[in-house]
Parts: sequence; structure tokens; C-alpha cells
Amino acid sequence: MAAQSSKIEWTESTWNPVRGCTRVSEGCRFCYAERIAARFSGAGMAYEGLAENTKAGARWTQKVQTVPALFFVFPCGVISISKK
Ligand code: SF4
Repeated sequence: MAAQSSKIEWTESTWNPVRGCTRVSEGCRFCYAERIAARFSGAGMAYEGLAENTKAGARWTQKVQTVPALFFVFPCGVISISKK
């Protein structure tokens, strides 16, 4: 069983390898990610400096950030893949 690190009911963990974005079209007007990022953009929070709340609403700051992750997976610990 994988480590449980998400409260999302249909998954066990999440990872956003890149944070931040730039509006590119009218289709970005109701961007969910931008609103969530602005919500968590306070000092020390995951999206600090990447989004902000403005009078016009949530807005990306045009900065992006990569988020490296290191996963340790130990597959097939008790089987033999060479067994016929
Ligand atoms: S994440 Fe938001 S701003 Fe970026 S391309 Fe998608 S809809 Fe547009």
C-alpha cells in the first residue's frame, strides 16, 4: 500500500511538478488553478510568489517553480519474476 498523503478520496498522493502559469487565452478566465494558487500564496505557503489576490481577482505572477520529488518504490519484494 502506498503512503497516504492526500485527503482526496480517489487517490493516495498528489504531486504538481510545476507550479505557476500564465494566462494564454480567454479560456483561462475562470482558471481553477489560479484561484487555488492565490489562496495558498501567503508567506511560507506552497504558492508564495506565484499567484496573488488582486482587485480583479486571483492572478498568476508570471513566475513558475519546479517541484522535484523523490519516490522510493520497492516492487516485487516477495515474488520471483523468473518463475515459470
Ligand atoms: S492553468 Fe489556468 S492560466 Fe494556465 S493555461 Fe490552464 S487555464 Fe490558463
